[in-house]
Amino acid sequence: MLRLLVLMFCLAAAGCSAAFDLTPYQIPASDTIRIPDEILYPQYFRETDEVTFENIIAEFRSRFQFFSGLRSDSSERICYKMQRRINKGLERLVASAGQLPFNSIDDRMIFDDESPLSPFLRPMPVKHSEYCSFKSFGDLKNGGTVYCAYHGIDVGSSFYKTHLHEFEVARPAFTAFDLVELLIFFPALLVIPVTWLVLKKALENKPPPESNKQG
Ligand SMILES: [Zn+2]
Repeated sequence: MLRLLVLMFCLAAAGCSAAFDLTPYQIPASDTIRIPDEILYPQYFRETDEVTFENIIAEFRSRFQFFSGLRSDSSERICYKMQRRINKGLERLVASAGQLPFNSIDDRMIFDDESPLSPFLRPMPVKHSEYCSFKSFGDLKNGGTVYCAYHGIDVGSSFYKTHLHEFEVARPAFTAFDLVELLIFFPALLVIPVTWLVLKKALENKPPPESNKQG
């Protein structure tokens, strides 16, 4: 009986001390550290960019669904939408508290009901993929940004636009997307020179005008 009472006391004490510990999130981040690969060229694009049979079929299917009106938002776009929800929550927290009480975030900060950010996340972001993991890079009090370790960063964010060149350099010049574009549009591009050649031949074979004939 005594053991049970001790256990209940310990559980109650643990419950009371379950307040969200902000200490690990209050470390200011340096703004000189290199942008990690999981932002510049995230795993999702490493998988879908590769020129493989599966990726080429997926690209063709995506275009068919787009033209037939069946296409829903792509995986990365849904994740970017969730990142915008998190950014909105951060803005609301700043508007309410005057400043952020932390310098970085992660999944725990977002999904733990006890976190100071949680009440400001409406609607609540969800993970579109089991691989999604929300994090921050840099100092959120000073130009830092939110991203997903699997899908990377929202391409509409100011951080992406500011570092556009670095993103472009990190990604390969030719991907499965580019190959499918080429397969679709190359035949169309051939029509122009072929039409020009046919017209040229037709003009060459045309008999000369009869204006030189003398009556
Ligand atoms: Zn994601």
